[in-house]
Amino acid sequence: MLEKQNLLGLTQSKFKDFFSDLSEKPFRTKQIMQWIYHQGVYNFGDMHNFSKALRDKLDSIASLDLPEVISTNNSKDGVVKWVIKLGENNHIETVYIPQKERGTLCISSQVGCSLACTFCSTGHQGFNRNLKTHEIIGQVLVAKNYLAQENKRISNVVFMGMGEPLLNESPVYDACQILLDDWAFGLSRRRVTVSSSGIVPALLRMSDTVPVSLAISLHAPEDELRDILVPINKKYPIKELMKACHYYLNAGSQERHILFEYVMLENVNDSVENAKTLSKLLNFWFDRESAKVNLIPFNPFPETQYKTSNNKSIDKFQDILHRSGIRTTTRRTRGDDVDAACGQLAGKVIDKSRRNVGRN
Ligand code: SAH
Ligand code: SF4
Repeated sequence: MLEKQNLLGLTQSKFKDFFSDLSEKPFRTKQIMQWIYHQGVYNFGDMHNFSKALRDKLDSIASLDLPEVISTNNSKDGVVKWVIKLGENNHIETVYIPQKERGTLCISSQVGCSLACTFCSTGHQGFNRNLKTHEIIGQVLVAKNYLAQENKRISNVVFMGMGEPLLNESPVYDACQILLDDWAFGLSRRRVTVSSSGIVPALLRMSDTVPVSLAISLHAPEDELRDILVPINKKYPIKELMKACHYYLNAGSQERHILFEYVMLENVNDSVENAKTLSKLLNFWFDRESAKVNLIPFNPFPETQYKTSNNKSIDKFQDILHRSGIRTTTRRTRGDDVDAACGQLAGKVIDKSRRNVGRN
């Protein structure tokens, strides 16, 4: 028997094609998307503005299945972490971080990650496979349904969970379209952020494909150090990345800016010299409005050698950037009592990449 198509993976235009193939009118798209995303109905039988014949047809060829949740952990500071099972014994993680006026959902785009950044727990796990669009959207729906019971809502979605979103382009772009679509989640483009370690050709494509916000995981101001921390830098060095960032800023009709993420590792990338070089780099390439820096205190995990910079070094680093005119914030670590902090997301990954050889 043919596997049923999970319709949670369809963008508005893919729904139109789907209904056209069934010889149904285009307005079915708005109806079904509103049932799913506005009414929370996942049962075709309950979609009462569809004919019985259409409901039966959908039942026989399609599904609206949410992914299986293995556990839900609530941390003391209001962070919620879901562990989600994706067949084949692979698990991914999704995290909700409540803030004063927003609620940010951090979602995964891959099972593991192949890029092996040395300070990242996901990178240490290796890579298994890309997520499909319905698995990305499924994370948002699982979280939305759970949070609704507590009267909480998701105002922002960031691709900062497991995986490198720009190595899984089509499913990530389709998921972004669904997040932005008024018939679905209706989030504004400022509230959907793709975070990338800098896959240059994909970044150029993304700039012209989906109007979302961008975060770049920079972590070092010079190639020599970045080659070690973010090994993909050897393929796409800082200068190429900065050019691609420029392309992103100038693509699209609305004003754009970039958030540069910088993990603070004691005695590795947190010196006064590093801060000055970073200021020079960013001031050379960007004006004050286009670039912002977010310092992330390193979140340790069992296999790591790195240590978190102390608060004094972080403050000093931030101060140097500020003085040179760069807007800089420091991320307060949240959810670390349930291992839900940035870079602690490890899930359970059956590593299929060759990097597994010789690793523990
Ligand atoms: N692959 C993408 C998105 C997932 S990682 C990327 O690299 O941008 C999301 C963010 O968490 C990145 O900025 C990443 O550098 C950061 N991160 C990874 N490991 C971390 C750790 N141990 N402590 C703090 N931040 C970490
Ligand atoms: Fe992958 Fe991002 Fe972790 Fe690097 S920091 S290994 S790109 S998930």
